[in-house]
Amino acid sequence: AIVFLENRMAQNRLIIGLLLAACISNVQLQTTDEIEWRLPTIIRPSRYRLHIDVPEAALSPESNEYGGHSVMLFTTLEPTTTIKLHSSYDHIRLNLVTIGNTDVNETNYSVNNITDILTITSPFQLNPNITYQLVINFTGILSTTEMTGFYKSSYVREDGVTRYLLTTQFQPTSARRAFPCLDEPFFKAIFEIFITHPVEYNALSNTPSTLNGTASGTETYQFDDTALMSTYLIAFVISDFTCTQGEDIGTVPYQICSRDEANSTREWALEIGPPLVESLNDYTQFDYNRSKSKLDQVAIPDFAAGAMENWGLVTYREVFLLWDSDESSNNYKQLIATINSHEFGHFWFGNLVTCNWWSETFLNEGFATYFEYFTTHDVLPSWELDKQYIVDIVQPILITDALENALPLQSEANTPTEVMAKFGRISYSKGGAIFRMVEHVMGSTNFKNGLRDYLDEFQYQTTLPEDLWRTLQRSVDNSTAKLPANTTLVEVMHNWVNSPGFPLLTVAVHGTHIEISQERFLISGNDTITRWYVPISYTTSEDANKFNSTAPQQWLTPAASASFHIEVTNATWFILNNQQSGYFRVNYDNNGWNNIRDALQKPEFDGIVEVNRAQIVDDLFNLARRDKIEYARVFSIVQFLVNETSYFTWNSAFRGFNFLLSRVGLESQLGQAISGYVLNLMENLYTNVSFVRHNTDDQIHTFKQVLALSTACRLGKSACIASSKVFFHVYKDFGLRPPKNLRGVVYCNALRHSTDSSDWEFLWQEYLSTTLASELVTIIPALGCSRDRTLLERYLNLSITENSGIRSQDRLSVFNSVFNGNPMGIEVAFEFLTNNHARINEMYLSMNALPNLINGLAAVFTTEEEIERLEEFIEEGLPAEYLPAATTAIETARANIAWVEHFHQHLFDFFFVVSTPGAAPETLGLHVCVVLLVVFFGQLF
Ligand SMILES: [Zn+2]
Repeated sequence: AIVFLENRMAQNRLIIGLLLAACISNVQLQTTDEIEWRLPTIIRPSRYRLHIDVPEAALSPESNEYGGHSVMLFTTLEPTTTIKLHSSYDHIRLNLVTIGNTDVNETNYSVNNITDILTITSPFQLNPNITYQLVINFTGILSTTEMTGFYKSSYVREDGVTRYLLTTQFQPTSARRAFPCLDEPFFKAIFEIFITHPVEYNALSNTPSTLNGTASGTETYQFDDTALMSTYLIAFVISDFTCTQGEDIGTVPYQICSRDEANSTREWALEIGPPLVESLNDYTQFDYNRSKSKLDQVAIPDFAAGAMENWGLVTYREVFLLWDSDESSNNYKQLIATINSHEFGHFWFGNLVTCNWWSETFLNEGFATYFEYFTTHDVLPSWELDKQYIVDIVQPILITDALENALPLQSEANTPTEVMAKFGRISYSKGGAIFRMVEHVMGSTNFKNGLRDYLDEFQYQTTLPEDLWRTLQRSVDNSTAKLPANTTLVEVMHNWVNSPGFPLLTVAVHGTHIEISQERFLISGNDTITRWYVPISYTTSEDANKFNSTAPQQWLTPAASASFHIEVTNATWFILNNQQSGYFRVNYDNNGWNNIRDALQKPEFDGIVEVNRAQIVDDLFNLARRDKIEYARVFSIVQFLVNETSYFTWNSAFRGFNFLLSRVGLESQLGQAISGYVLNLMENLYTNVSFVRHNTDDQIHTFKQVLALSTACRLGKSACIASSKVFFHVYKDFGLRPPKNLRGVVYCNALRHSTDSSDWEFLWQEYLSTTLASELVTIIPALGCSRDRTLLERYLNLSITENSGIRSQDRLSVFNSVFNGNPMGIEVAFEFLTNNHARINEMYLSMNALPNLINGLAAVFTTEEEIERLEEFIEEGLPAEYLPAATTAIETARANIAWVEHFHQHLFDFFFVVSTPGAAPETLGLHVCVVLLVVFFGQLF
């Protein structure tokens, strides 16, 4: 699944919070060491024949029950009388259990209400080499409060009629909520599914179907046998959706399905799907049609994850599949392409070859993250997703992975909480970053050939990381790729996979020698033990072919430090880690940094490419955060940003400045000084994008425009705010919407600086009247930008009001928008939380909402007083089971405040003593005029 996304716009960060939170639902909080969570491996299922019978009443509020009948063929590895499988205690009522032709007495089977393990004692001994048949008749209970398992969802048609649908989300452990099965990825089987439903609905599952029978108002469809597959990839959707047929992908029919009213927004997904699958067919040399004979993609109105790679039946949030070329932004156009690539990548990495257990989730999600960007890059190279990968995936995860409690890529996971934790950013982004590093170590062609071998060898099986490294080793052996002397890839990769964190390399130049030492880079705490095999590439000012070669020129071994002879006699500068292909940070001695600073001031940055400029900026800010370098030095080096207009470099720079601003508070004296300083630095960038230049075909320009304008407006640039207001009022008074890519910026800043509550009311009415998902997710965060306390309180109350018009998947985004919108929103959101926590818990999808809210909120606290109030609330109002999460949140907030205390004087000295930033000159009147002219005389957008 794609569980969260790290992206360029604030609204996406809100989605991240929601998706992550939605996925931690139904987490049991017991610490239960003695509990057996995993199934024994002696029972081996080979085939399921499953009948699902959906009555009319289940597609209404009337009933949540459906009929189920399952026949499972299995063998046993040893003589036994015990069969263990999963069957949800809450969602499956067992009516009759039969082995072979013998009924099992009710006293001989039971379900554990914590682990959902169904233990059956067979009336006779089961012996190896015989295929047995386990038949279970059951009544299933649909989920209505959580978007997992087999669940009921609904949407409101334009004529006001509510329509119901049933859909599934099984990953990682919820297939057991729909039917009894051995619900671990390891137990692959063939599935033959029959679905009976009322005639006015239709059913989709993983394979093509044929009509099998009709009876009084119902139809039964039989779905073809699936390939050998894991239970979590099974899916069914019973709905009144319609589909649009696309072009076949080779011999594979391809279609996009959704509620019928959204049928005009299927075009982009219809267009982009086939070339993405073809690209993966070509990359893997394992055609999709060898495992599946159709591909359906369905947009679900209420969906907890972002998307789910069910084999042959991929499910999505609407906003990640449906795109309106006039109304939806370039950002969502890209997200649809990349999330499609992510899910398609899973067909090979996840579905065909599957992680053995969720301890190795990164084998699925790391590869999917890699293909999310690089398959899309192959099809749409002008979007520069190879570079976006650095600033979206690699740099952000280096921040997460520097935390003391970071999980290693591979780590034990037994309880549902532990399993869900494996669907965090480490598995996705660190997994993806590490695979990219291995690609550059081996060379792209060798890496690709190695992966082809891997798929060929392990098709329809599950794997451990060693299986991957051993297969790739064969490619290394057949090539000129170099590993450290006398090592194998298994040894080289061990610490990258089994230890948390990553190294900081410290580089010192002594004459013609470079000395490099390594230590684990941690934001707090120390680790003097963990060391890695680190591939080293570098460029000097003398190299003709700057930064292009990413093969390791040297290896650092887990020995403490190493000295290399490198020809640097005539070089003025030396930079490590070409294209940021290695997963680590780099620090230089004073002289080294001075040389880099001087080079960056030269024309064309003296040949230092934009990805490495972004790397330098990202490393600098994080080194300073850890006190490895002084902020004053950082600011002197990043002074080159006055000449910089690269989206990638600025992306890294804004992340660094945003961290500082979130710590010191945007509206504090220091925050204001930093804002002024950043606005000065970005003057060229701001001029480069402007409000009135629109070229929606230039993807990177569009992203840069949104990034620069949203930052400038937030930091208080008056021309930016004035333009936002003009666009907003043209929309409100004349019905002309702002350019589609700028809507987020315009809505938010117009409301932020509005004193007329009818502005907010106008946008709220727009929210209620639109059914386009991409517009909904643009408006939600903007409504939280208001600084009117009454409006914010009303907005928060709407998020816990039944039938307020806010969809259940969006409720948490409302809360997040309020405390992210403005510093004053923190207080409003906090007060709302303390007064309504029980209701929030109930309404925000009844998921693990409270700890998530508290975490998010505490992360933006800047005063001791806020922390004390949170402690008070925890003591008085918080249910005990949330205590551990709340305690962590308080620790984080305290650490943040201690951080500010440590750095405050230093920052203060820089901004008020050393530098005297002046306000940027502004030509406000002219600017607004230009905006007005463009708005009225050209539908240029
Ligand atoms: Zn995924």
